[in-house]
Amino acid sequence: MSVNFLISQAKNIQIVIDENAAEIEALDQNIGDGDHIFNVQRGLKLVVELEDDIKNLPLQKGLNMIAMKVLSGIGGSSGALFGTFFMSMAKTPDLDKDIDFKKACEMVITGINAMKERGKADVGEKTMMDVLIPVSEKLNELKSGNTDMKEGLSEITKIAEDRMLATKDMLATKGRASFLGERAKGHIDPGARSSQLIIDTICKSLINK
Ligand code: ADP
Ligand code: MG
Repeated sequence: MSVNFLISQAKNIQIVIDENAAEIEALDQNIGDGDHIFNVQRGLKLVVELEDDIKNLPLQKGLNMIAMKVLSGIGGSSGALFGTFFMSMAKTPDLDKDIDFKKACEMVITGINAMKERGKADVGEKTMMDVLIPVSEKLNELKSGNTDMKEGLSEITKIAEDRMLATKDMLATKGRASFLGERAKGHIDPGARSSQLIIDTICKSLINK
């Protein structure tokens, strides 16, 4: 993993998020305040615009610059959570060495753990953590096992999709949707959908490499 890898992934993700923008907007209009798509699109734009400033930086510095940009430039729960994600990834030890698949897994796991701590949401609360925590658990398994990387990534896309769909029937106990009580049921969580699309895009680009 390098800063250039992060930027190229952000560009791929931008395309997929834009293609699904109307759906994500509607999901947050159903159970939130409707701004989730705006926050995600703005975050991606800010990261892509950083390209010239960070493309030659070491990974740790690049991640910290991305974190600062996301934290200062995006509102809502997602700004704080994704900012925390990048800031914590930057704290993974030995980022100055070659980043292999195991190290990349460790970085993502570190970032997701920090989001969990920051938002205090666990699985079953109808948030993006319903997708991210099971993905992190699977990465942990892949990191220490012998599964073929592409097979593992394909399993991750399936887990993310299943967990995203599972938010539909949940009651929300964190975030704005928690104010709705039973009325939140029957709607997929917008953060779960955007996170699933992001994971799907990254995994598929690595599988097709
Ligand atoms: P806001 O809810 O502040 O308007 P966004 O619309 O950008 O922020 O993001 C909404 C998404 O944030 C929700 O769909 C949910 O997935 C996620 N979310 C809300 N609260 C939390 C939390 N405490 N922990 C993790 N994710 C959360
Ligand atoms: Mg919102």
